[in-house]
Amino acid sequence: MDTDVLIVGAGPTGLMLANQLARRGVRTLLIDRHAGPSRETRALGVQARTLEIYAKLGIVDRALALGTRGTGANIWAEGRWMARVPLGETGRGVTPYPYILILGQDDNERIMGDRLRDFGQSIQWNTELVGLEQDADRVAATLKLPDGTARQLAAAWVAGCDGAHSAVRELSSIPFVGAPYEHVFFVADTEVTGSMVPDQVNVYLWRQGFHLFFPMRGANHWRIVGILPPALRGRDDVTFEAVMPSVRAEAGAELSFKACTWYSTYRIHHRRAARFRDRRCFLLGDAAHIHSPVGAQGMNTGLQDAYNLAWKLALVTQGRADAALLDSYEDERVPVARRLLDTTDRAFRLVVSDGWLAGVLRTKLLARIAAFAMSRESIQRFAFRVISQTGIRYRASALSISPEGWPDDAPRAGDRFPWLRLKLRADGPVEDVFERLDDTRLTLIVVGQPPPSETVPLAGDLLRVLVILADRANDAELTRARLPQPSFYLLRPDGHVGLCGARVEADLIARYAADRLGLRPARAL
Ligand SMILES: Cc1cc2nc3c(=O)[nH]c(=O)nc-3n(C[C@H](O)[C@H](O)[C@H](O)COP(=O)(O)OP(=O)(O)OC[C@H]3O[C@@H](n4cnc5c(N)ncnc54)[C@H](O)[C@@H]3O)c2cc1C
Repeated sequence: MDTDVLIVGAGPTGLMLANQLARRGVRTLLIDRHAGPSRETRALGVQARTLEIYAKLGIVDRALALGTRGTGANIWAEGRWMARVPLGETGRGVTPYPYILILGQDDNERIMGDRLRDFGQSIQWNTELVGLEQDADRVAATLKLPDGTARQLAAAWVAGCDGAHSAVRELSSIPFVGAPYEHVFFVADTEVTGSMVPDQVNVYLWRQGFHLFFPMRGANHWRIVGILPPALRGRDDVTFEAVMPSVRAEAGAELSFKACTWYSTYRIHHRRAARFRDRRCFLLGDAAHIHSPVGAQGMNTGLQDAYNLAWKLALVTQGRADAALLDSYEDERVPVARRLLDTTDRAFRLVVSDGWLAGVLRTKLLARIAAFAMSRESIQRFAFRVISQTGIRYRASALSISPEGWPDDAPRAGDRFPWLRLKLRADGPVEDVFERLDDTRLTLIVVGQPPPSETVPLAGDLLRVLVILADRANDAELTRARLPQPSFYLLRPDGHVGLCGARVEADLIARYAADRLGLRPARAL
């Protein structure tokens, strides 16, 4: 076998997968048909859940230093300020990163590329996947090399992180079901002054569409995203100068443009691969799902596809788990993509639909509804969990086991384990529990009871135990997060709960690990 995992595509999804596999010691080959990293900013919003994953990868500080924290979104309609959607305040207590980090895709790719080099791995540029054939034990891939010659390579698994026009998807004959939208987007990185609330997202709704202003690094730097006005549709040569009057008309005549460093138009589609896997080949990121950029979810969803698959692929390639564990990738990520496409499609149609009535709805009602909704804390919290992707859960997965009668409002199997700050030593300080989780292992969190007296027979130091002490400060935090006492939570490496219950027993954990995760006991290795 030439490599355990051939990763096709070194965009954000492929880079995340390569990093996660490299830090777990898996042999990979990362190829990309381009000559080097993309210089376009493209995606701009990094969500809180992605930042939590960046923290585990050791790159969050660099991302935070380079990005701008968007703590809220301001909604304007026909030139008047209407409402503010708070993100910072609402997310406090949910995550260490209660904001959207505005950081271009090129910066994200650079940071992940640098981290990959720390693990001694590099990207093979100018190398294109052109053929795939599978048998029971391996995939034979044909690569076109920089000098134009072809090379055959044997890989145990192939990860298609090769974007919307995925060769892995096409060569696996997986349909990409969906359609293009009729609207054409424009995106411009500008230096501009105007009515925008600094350091926050500004949404300008108008009768025939919308303009989004994202704060970028540097004084008066804004990314503007919008749809082309009707008069300019159907033309291929629309420049930013041609778009400017409509932006001024809706976002304020006082807008003063000093520079535009990048401008592009693009047609978007909403499509989902009919399957995310064909035997030994997987689809992740844009290869598996594409949708409107409303909500800044695209890049983040690809990064989480990679985080979901990486720990499973690592355990399987290292012979620690049965290959059946990989079935859960598709079972867990297809519903996430389906929901994402539904919600972004609905939101997108609402903000772009043509017609007089839709225009009135957008400019007169939408902002008022948003303002009313955002005055309610429960709606604010719900919105934050959806946008930040901290609310993604896999409750229906075969890997998720909660006991009968488990309280409805308590965290349960499939959920991302909540962010807690607790005292973990009687004489110690309050600590961030996320910092204590090792995402290359399983963690057993034991609350209000002693840990199991017997060792759980898991292979290769795969289980860490964290005991939450009985303490008044801890009680208040556990009550806030609605964790029952006594209880236990077995966390998967990606921080989602696999198994939970009241009384912890070594036997129960061992059975879950063998039956659900397909982990082999130490003596089997
Ligand atoms: C103009 C523009 C603006 C956008 N704005 C936003 C935004 O504001 N918010 C948002 O969330 N998303 C946005 N997106 C979408 C976002 O860029 C994607 O979701 C993200 O790039 C997906 O990452 P990926 O790694 O899955 O795929 P990609 O970034 O497309 O990477 C795929 C890689 O695979 C390589 N490749 C393809 N075929 C092969 C092959 N056969 N062999 C080898 N390599 C191959 C390509 O060269 C490429 O480097 C935007 C996209 C565009 C085009």
